[in-house]
This record gives sequence, C-alpha cells and structure tokens, in this order.
Amino acid sequence: MTLFEKIMNGDLPADFVHQDDQAVAFRDINPAAPVHILIVPRKVIPTTNDITDEDGPLIGHMFAIARDLAKKEGIADDGYRLLFNCNRHGGQEVYHLHLHLLGGRPLGRMVAAA
Ligand code: AMP
Repeated sequence: MTLFEKIMNGDLPADFVHQDDQAVAFRDINPAAPVHILIVPRKVIPTTNDITDEDGPLIGHMFAIARDLAKKEGIADDGYRLLFNCNRHGGQEVYHLHLHLLGGRPLGRMVAAA
C-alpha cells in the first residue's frame, strides 16, 4: 500500500484540507512554500506515465480542487504553481499520483539548478 493510501485510509495522520469520493488534499509534511498542498486521487495511479484517457475527468477534478483551494488559501490572485513530479529525474518520492499546489511567496523561475 502506498503512503498516501495509508493517509487516505486514516492509518497515518494528515492535515486534510479537502476530501471527496474521488480525491483528497492535505498539507505537505515538509512544505517548500508557505502554502504547499498535495491533491491526491483515491485511485492508485503510480506516475503521470500511468494516466489513461479514461482518467481525464479525474485529472480535471484534481485541477478544480487546486483552483478552489488556491482561492480558499488566498493565493489565487498573487499566483501559485501546480506541478507533478515523475520518476527519478522529476524527483518523485511517493509513487501515488499527486498534484503539488505551491504558493504564498514568489517561487522563482521553473526549476532549481541541479
Ligand atoms: P514527490 O517528490 O512529488 O513524490 O512529493 C512527495 C511529497 O510528499 C513531498 O513533498 C513530501 O514532503 C510529501 N510527504 C511525504 N510524506 C508525507 C506525509 N506523511 N504527509 C504529508 N506529506 C508527505
């Protein structure tokens, strides 16, 4: 079972900011910005490589949750970043798809130097 399944099952604690039948969102345990939330589908999809055409509505739903949370967190107007990490070069640590919502300060351009 993935770490995020354990969180969704209630076996591990998390600071939830959204829960519905398709996806949940909780605060990242090691925030990289003042607002750092992970939007996680209940369906286990290991990486963005594993997204199927049938997952389209689910992925759209994740972005809708991110949009609503950005507004709720007060970062919608100043702006924020949404990102998926994929595999080793993407720096993925947890192999259960999740969308990062980052904001609350200027985030700089794209990627940090290696
Ligand atoms: P990624 O590198 O895209 O796989 O991101 C995984 C994220 O999960 C990292 O930002 C971690 O800080 C975060 N994380 C790991 N364990 C937990 C946890 N127990 N609760 C909340 N966030 C976590």
